[in-house]
Amino acid sequence: MNAVYNNSRIVVAVLDNLATAMTGHQPHPGTGVTGMHSPAERILIEKIAEGCGVKYVRVVNPFRTREAAAVLKEALQQSGPSVVVFRAPCTLVDAREKRRRGIEVVPTRITEKCTNCMACISLLGCPAIVAEGGKVRIDENSCAACGLCISVCPYDVIEGSCAE
Ligand code: SF4
Ligand code: SF4
Repeated sequence: MNAVYNNSRIVVAVLDNLATAMTGHQPHPGTGVTGMHSPAERILIEKIAEGCGVKYVRVVNPFRTREAAAVLKEALQQSGPSVVVFRAPCTLVDAREKRRRGIEVVPTRITEKCTNCMACISLLGCPAIVAEGGKVRIDENSCAACGLCISVCPYDVIEGSCAE
């Protein structure tokens, strides 16, 4: 509200993974279930931002990296405050739900065509991607199959399902 009132030129980035990730995935007003696990209407942060008078409000899937970068660039060009909500389900919660429904979660895989350029390591910091002896591999026990590494590999040598 202060930013709107003073027309501050800032971008507020909201990272919404539809979970209370730091304490154990409990429901919160944005998840769509109550503390007793019955369905509830989600309170959307973008509606709150609009209600506060923010003119530039966008919701984007951060796994669609090109689209997310374009939205962020546009937000940075606004003359007043802007809000970008990066929304995608927590991959751990998503994978757990899929397994519960009997859907196989296949870890992402780096093929032999890898050039060992290390872009996936330096750009992402995903703990499942490990470098050993100058070579890169994905630890399948840690991979949540989110597909983000696929979109950052400049040589398209990572196989799996990607949000892009
Ligand atoms: S970014 Fe792609 S080519 Fe580069 S090390 Fe990672 S998997 Fe290999
Ligand atoms: S798919 Fe996601 S979790 Fe798996 S290695 Fe790539 S970035 Fe990490």
